[in-house]
Amino acid sequence: MYDLIIIGMGISGISAAIYAKRSNLNVLLLESNAPGGTLNKIPNITNYPGFNNITGPDLAMNLFNTINELEIPYKIEEVTDVILEDTKTIKTKNNVYHSKYLLIATGRKPNLLGLKHEEDYLGKGISTCALCDGALYKNKEVAVIGGGESALSESLYLSKICKKVYLIHRRSEFRGEDLTLTKVKEQPNIELILNEEVTELIIKDNKFKGIKLKNKELNISCLFLYIGSTPNTEFLKQTDIKLDNNYILVNDKYETNIKGVYAVGDVIKKDIYQLINAASEGAIATINISKN
Ligand SMILES: Cc1cc2nc3c(=O)[nH]c(=O)nc-3n(C[C@H](O)[C@H](O)[C@H](O)COP(=O)(O)OP(=O)(O)OC[C@H]3O[C@@H](n4cnc5c(N)ncnc54)[C@H](O)[C@@H]3O)c2cc1C
Repeated sequence: MYDLIIIGMGISGISAAIYAKRSNLNVLLLESNAPGGTLNKIPNITNYPGFNNITGPDLAMNLFNTINELEIPYKIEEVTDVILEDTKTIKTKNNVYHSKYLLIATGRKPNLLGLKHEEDYLGKGISTCALCDGALYKNKEVAVIGGGESALSESLYLSKICKKVYLIHRRSEFRGEDLTLTKVKEQPNIELILNEEVTELIIKDNKFKGIKLKNKELNISCLFLYIGSTPNTEFLKQTDIKLDNNYILVNDKYETNIKGVYAVGDVIKKDIYQLINAASEGAIATINISKN
């Protein structure tokens, strides 16, 4: 029986665990994939205090080192189901854990376009991570889909590796930061294609060859998707936790509508989805838990 189980080892879950340790809570972290979460997909971070410029994987490694230095226990297991009574029951494929408090810090996953063959070609011409896959397309032509800050900054990252980057957006204006957009427009090997949408993937001989847009075709080696994301809350479907569009609703203490269940980071409904507030939310939630 743990005092606190934290699901997710992104920056929010790890920050929460650091504060849990400081408060002498008996804590366990559960992570389905790699410690650091989304950080592992970010090429460069230039807006996190204390680091002028750090790669996401380096920051992830720093956080992971802290977990090990503080001897905070963690397990690499995906949570598949939870039962939220006075005692919280957390189920993974092979184990069942119990705790007094539960903190959900499971982040979001990237959206796909929903096109035929898309999932079959993930990792083979379709990607949601420029940092992970960009180097495979050195000196090749690629396309990025999206209109937000991620689409802009990942296009810039790819433009340093690839011969050409088509940045395709279905509207005429971008939602990203002005500074990033200016840099994108100044980059000679990024071509903006506005008011366009991908209608079909071109597959020949079982290989990804390019995309059809409404008004043209592009021969490209990889299509990078930055078209928003969906919170990781599937494992909550048997519970009464209040969600809005699959995002968890919390109060100003980061507690959900269910007593003893808290949520932080990208998985909650909020206005700003950044590292700095994800980290602070983890700390605040655990401080509140330790005050109970
Ligand atoms: C491409 C990109 C670039 C970005 N660049 C910046 C930037 O420069 N500056 C900035 O401030 N922000 C940036 N962000 C936003 C920032 O990365 C996020 O706000 C932050 O990482 C969210 O942290 P988190 O801990 O909430 O979630 P995550 O980091 O996503 O961590 C969630 C963790 O939970 C795990 N998990 C999910 N489901 C389960 C389950 N069922 N069982 C067990 N574990 C589970 C996941 O594997 C993951 O490790 C960027 C985001 C993207 C996508």
